[in-house]
Amino acid sequence: MMCDICNSKETYVKDYEHIYEFKGKKIKFIAPRRFCSNCNNFVYDEELDHAVGLKAIDLYNKKYGIPKDEIINLRKQYSLSQELFSKIIGCAKKTLISYEKGTSIPNDNFMIILKSLIKNPSMILEIVDSNKELFTDKEYQKINKNVSAFVDLDNKNELDEYNGYTKRNHNKIVNLILMICNKGILKTKLLKEMFYADFLNYKNTGTSITGLCYAKIDHGPVPDNYETLINRLCKDNIIDYIVTYQNDYEYHNIIGKKDVDTSVFNEEELNTINSVINFFEKYTSRDIEKFSHEEVAFKQTKFYDNMSYDYAFDIERIK
Ligand SMILES: [Zn+2]
Repeated sequence: MMCDICNSKETYVKDYEHIYEFKGKKIKFIAPRRFCSNCNNFVYDEELDHAVGLKAIDLYNKKYGIPKDEIINLRKQYSLSQELFSKIIGCAKKTLISYEKGTSIPNDNFMIILKSLIKNPSMILEIVDSNKELFTDKEYQKINKNVSAFVDLDNKNELDEYNGYTKRNHNKIVNLILMICNKGILKTKLLKEMFYADFLNYKNTGTSITGLCYAKIDHGPVPDNYETLINRLCKDNIIDYIVTYQNDYEYHNIIGKKDVDTSVFNEEELNTINSVINFFEKYTSRDIEKFSHEEVAFKQTKFYDNMSYDYAFDIERIK
């Protein structure tokens, strides 16, 4: 790399306070930048400067806009492709991809639409209906089918003792699972640790972490409809589900494929999750299954019914 001003090839990198301005909002942060050793002017460094540009957009979106993960989650909640979702919100597919990658900042129109949808997911049906002529019959049916499935689920989500008075939060579900199966874990153990994390958090704070309901099955407590959940996470490339056989036994392994984003949790939730993971570290699937059968929540609930979070107060063996 060479200095444009004095042509020196001697350069060095040091931390520098970058200031960006987007839409009248200043973003300040420290990141490495390359300088000329001879005259101390900036030297262009494609890799460093590109990373800095992305970081500025990321910080802006997190502070004033919409973080890219929320845009991806929004679209995936509806089970829509980038193609269809971009058509619905009225932007080019390329533009949506740049929002999801975090390489650009949504313009004000899209920002308003995306924020409204995050707040009120069923609004998407109104948007689609008022622009019906934009879609082929096939597209229209597909959108309605996928979106209704989600919107129904969302509307049913009244806060009660079975979800720990907490709205279901897909982002937290994903990251709770990623935290627990970080190094790979057997499915039975994963499902039990989710139960303990949610119930203990309810015991400590009065809300669950994920808003999931838990049902009683033979193997102990499990998230209600966990098969659908696990299948969806596999399809979304968030986890791998691998079945292996050994001495006539089937082992159902779940392995995380994404980095955990712990920023979706508050401190209390993180502590709870970590204490559950640590507590059961040496437990086999069989051990944790047996352990969970001793819970009042398990004993007092009928098979295939959902468990009331009120039983969380009876969990006493894990601190
Ligand atoms: Zn120079």
